[in-house]
Amino acid sequence: MKVMTAVKRVVDYNVKVRVKADQSGVDIGNVKMSMNPFDEIATEAATRLKEAGKATEVIAVSCGVPQCQETLRTALAIGADRGVLVETDAELQPLAVAKLLKAVIDKEQPRLVILGKQAIDDDAGQTGQLLAALLDWPQATFASHIEIDGETATVTREVDGGLEVVSITLPAIVTTDLRLNEPRYVTLPNIMKAKKKPIDVLKPGDLGVDPSPRLKTLKVVEPPARKTGIVVPDVATLVEKLQNEAKVI
Ligand code: AMP
Repeated sequence: MKVMTAVKRVVDYNVKVRVKADQSGVDIGNVKMSMNPFDEIATEAATRLKEAGKATEVIAVSCGVPQCQETLRTALAIGADRGVLVETDAELQPLAVAKLLKAVIDKEQPRLVILGKQAIDDDAGQTGQLLAALLDWPQATFASHIEIDGETATVTREVDGGLEVVSITLPAIVTTDLRLNEPRYVTLPNIMKAKKKPIDVLKPGDLGVDPSPRLKTLKVVEPPARKTGIVVPDVATLVEKLQNEAKVI
């Protein structure tokens, strides 16, 4: 069984991004970029399936600028066997990514495709669901456990107030939640090995997909600054403030 993972290059989660002066977006010039953390979890999950003998090959796919090759190299160092870069400078929105991934899936025919539940830059949380709809495949989102048995995946999902267990028939889409696994550290020998693994580079045109944005960003602004806290003189004032001023945010 081939397993595919989708890995996005995003601003590293430790970076505090700044809004551009013209409010057209955030400034990503000279900031550290990394693999979207949920996609590391997806790649770790796929690698564990291979190590358990359930997957025969793991293919990592990234869509975006040429530097996404670095993201793919990280996926290869975690354990993916090969990478596919769909290279474009276009601003990619979830629908365009889903169409590009569908075209790669049509070529590669994986039985299981694992994506992150959301990308930490746009926080869209849409690509997996759009992809399942375009393919007309079953989907299990926000997975915290995946069990594969023959043609069936049993997936535990994190939902409000508890866990839901669903059974889906392959081929299927799964999106990862934080608690699915803890991705391994990428070791130097594995980084060296990853350099020898192949990465195919395709263009959206090769896949017959027009990735142009369908949504227009009107403006991006900083969140409102938080007011500084105060020190109350005694318990009575604290209780009074809690009763009359405190709000649930
Ligand atoms: P989003 O819908 O943008 O929050 O992204 C959800 C998931 O879709 C991510 O965690 C990735 O697995 C996948 N994804 C989104 N954008 C890309 C991209 N440009 N290249 C590869 N995978 C992507």
